[in-house]
Amino acid sequence: MPGFELFGNAERKEVNDVLDSGVLMRYGFDGMRNGHWKAKELETELQATLKAQHVQLVSSGTAAVSVALAAAGVGAGDEVIMPSFTFVASFEAIMMMGAIPVLVDIDDTLALDPKAVKNAITPRTKAIMVVQMCGSMGDMAALQAISDEHDLILIEDACQAIGATYKGQALGTIGHLGCFSFDFVKTVTSGEGGAVVTNNKAFYVNADQYSDHGHDHVGNDRGAETHPFLGYNFRISELHAAVGLAQVRRLPEFLNIQKQNYTVLRKALSEIPEVTFRTVPEGGEESYAFLNFFLPDLETSRRASATLKAAGVDGCFHYYDNSWHYVRKWEHLKNLNTLYPISQEVKEGLASLQTKTFKQSDHYIGRNISCLIKLSWSSQDLEVRAKNMVAAIRASV
Ligand SMILES: *Cc1c(COP(=O)(O)O)cnc(C)c1O
Repeated sequence: MPGFELFGNAERKEVNDVLDSGVLMRYGFDGMRNGHWKAKELETELQATLKAQHVQLVSSGTAAVSVALAAAGVGAGDEVIMPSFTFVASFEAIMMMGAIPVLVDIDDTLALDPKAVKNAITPRTKAIMVVQMCGSMGDMAALQAISDEHDLILIEDACQAIGATYKGQALGTIGHLGCFSFDFVKTVTSGEGGAVVTNNKAFYVNADQYSDHGHDHVGNDRGAETHPFLGYNFRISELHAAVGLAQVRRLPEFLNIQKQNYTVLRKALSEIPEVTFRTVPEGGEESYAFLNFFLPDLETSRRASATLKAAGVDGCFHYYDNSWHYVRKWEHLKNLNTLYPISQEVKEGLASLQTKTFKQSDHYIGRNISCLIKLSWSSQDLEVRAKNMVAAIRASV
């Protein structure tokens, strides 16, 4: 997945443009900047790549999720349905807005189970946040139907899935708002950075203004701008945007390599009868950033994970025992360990997490192994890796 593996002259040239002009800020300083508007250019590039009407760059993927929620008016006391398997940023952002994360099961897509979403809807539900984990996606047709039927905002966290599509549409452009991350380990990296994507003009204007202190961005005089509402600083810098610009232009190249490498490993693993693969919804095409497969039970997966490590096969994750991505080990959330007081509503909303079980999620995450697909492997690396993976898994089943 990581674009950082293929850093080169293109990235260097874009950064040097910014350093030569000396304008590290994405807004204003028109006279000094020598025509360089890297953030604006990256937004235009992403609009074309994703076929999205509006793109607002921000400082991280976590910022993107926060800004998307704010842009859609999600706030105090609102419930946001999110998956048990994601990255901690999902509930961090929801709680930042004073809203209540409502965690529900995933299915064999490794994303939100539409049935679980339906069961979790209450009069306070405001949004559904689908997280397109490990380069693939949830059942978007079913999730869209639920969002339409109940008049809920559908937010897509596509931070791990740039380049994946559903029925020909880029992930991140299917819900009302989509979020991307360009942190150091993502497919496209700018060091730190993110983007909010939407086809809704009002949400875009909200995202644009909210992510820069509520400045209205009207006219060329920054000092004369007014503030329609309170905002915050989630801006990206020109330096980061410059790196992202060079990287996004290389996305087709990255996706091509990912798909080739994924295909070789998948073919090798397909020969093991105990291995099954994650479900990709009909009409979906993965970004091939990860290869996800299931083994028959939890103990086999634990054993295989250890055997893979011992055999020197790096980048394979058994998320069941991991504290970043799966609800089982989110003790800080379950115990409400916040630095500052939180509202009674959020406390009550999260109280059930102490005892709630996620049997269906355990069933899938317990048996899942997720292997990062790298861009820098030579064909010989790939051959050795395939052989070692097959041997490690055969020895574990
Ligand atoms: C990486 C990631 C984020 C957060 O992005 P940052 O840029 O690291 O803040 C959010 N959601 C998912 C699914 C991610 O993988």
